[in-house]
Amino acid sequence: MTSGKTPHTLLVISAHAGDFVWRAGGAIALAARRGGRAKVVCLSYGERGESAKAWRAGHTLDEIKAIRREEAEHAAAALGAEIEFLDAGDYPLVETPELVDRLVRVYRESEPDVVLTHPLADPYNGDHPAAARMALQARVLAQAIGYDAPGEPLGAPPVFFFEPHQPEQCDFKPDVLLDITPVFEAKRKAMECLPAQQHMWDYYTDLAVRRGVQLKRNAGPNLGLAHDTRAEAFMRLYPQVTDTLL
Ligand SMILES: [Zn+2]
Repeated sequence: MTSGKTPHTLLVISAHAGDFVWRAGGAIALAARRGGRAKVVCLSYGERGESAKAWRAGHTLDEIKAIRREEAEHAAAALGAEIEFLDAGDYPLVETPELVDRLVRVYRESEPDVVLTHPLADPYNGDHPAAARMALQARVLAQAIGYDAPGEPLGAPPVFFFEPHQPEQCDFKPDVLLDITPVFEAKRKAMECLPAQQHMWDYYTDLAVRRGVQLKRNAGPNLGLAHDTRAEAFMRLYPQVTDTLL
């Protein structure tokens, strides 16, 4: 579906500093370009598990965290997003009530219209499902009027899982294809802000092309979509609420 409806606020909750770029950079750039607010929360910097190049270069843990933070800030700026780091540590990212509470406060403050996070299964990376579980638990708690956190109780923003690196193993079957063609250059620019994971740039460019082909196939021949359509894939967690099936 390619309705022109714009989310007012998009909240992206990711385990590591680079995740939001590969998997949701297009969605973020679209929200920002349409005048909405895009907020990214990184639970960690991915300092231990997703910074191999920096470790091999001999940097210390603190140096790596600083490097990844700066890179992610540049990537968020390239997409037009705000970014917040909770510095909760990775490999493992440990689920705690305190961390969930911090996320509740993010929900209450930002009042998102749409939430993006990792799928609940990832046999390659336990931090990703841990981030998703905390994101979902915090969303439910933020809805409770009696939960002790500033702000109003949250509504029911739809939750979309963004595409994992190994979708088949993560039970990821796309049911939403988002046309990111107009902002793909911004996504590529954001990817290039992450030299620690340079091997991912072309991978996620190729994926955008492939998902773009699938988007056109599902959109039908008469919508006038650009030949070189780019797309990102998502999965809905909750049913879509609508008053029309058209
Ligand atoms: Zn990650």
